[in-house]
Amino acid sequence: MPHPMHDDIEQTLFTEEQVRQRVKELGVEIAHDYEGREPHLVTIVKGSMPFLADLMRAIDIPLTLDVIGISSYSGTQSSGEVRLTKDLDDSIEGRHVLVVEDIIDTGLTLSYVLRNLRQRAPASVKVVTFLDKPSGRADAALVNADYVGFTIPDAFVIGYGLDWNQRYRNLPYVGILKRDVYAGPL
Ligand code: 5GP
Repeated sequence: MPHPMHDDIEQTLFTEEQVRQRVKELGVEIAHDYEGREPHLVTIVKGSMPFLADLMRAIDIPLTLDVIGISSYSGTQSSGEVRLTKDLDDSIEGRHVLVVEDIIDTGLTLSYVLRNLRQRAPASVKVVTFLDKPSGRADAALVNADYVGFTIPDAFVIGYGLDWNQRYRNLPYVGILKRDVYAGPL
């Protein structure tokens, strides 16, 4: 039977089960590292939402949560321009901030967020990213995550929060789109 969403996927990179397993492992590692300190999770909407929801339930120690909104991409290309679309609700002064990201590509989004957060005098700032694309890193943004779910090659991926033109965020697995979906018929 044709399916209007799954049929657009060229290749599955990580299955639902692989994602579930890896996110659990990250949660256990983070809970262990932060024992005795309460992490304050700062997540970047919207791509990180499924990751956040699963990760926070895998971190079995007290934690708090806030959300920041950043806009940087349109379509499959980085516009190179990063903008704050929603600020944090609470002060992070003296808190142990753990930034929760969906994917690091050029690193421009993360370096913008880190610069912004560090000005607010947190006790510490660390980063957990679901996916890392080290080959995409811009010279201007030599940032890295402290915790990485999966390292991936230079491909445009969707699913588990990651979109193409706001679609496919609800895919429970991570995949690569068929080229003709975003480039049109050849
Ligand atoms: P960066 O600023 O590191 O280049 O990119 C960060 C943001 O770009 C991510 O939070 C994500 O929204 C978007 N992005 C980067 N690479 C991909 C990708 O392969 N697929 C999707 N769907 N979004 C991406």
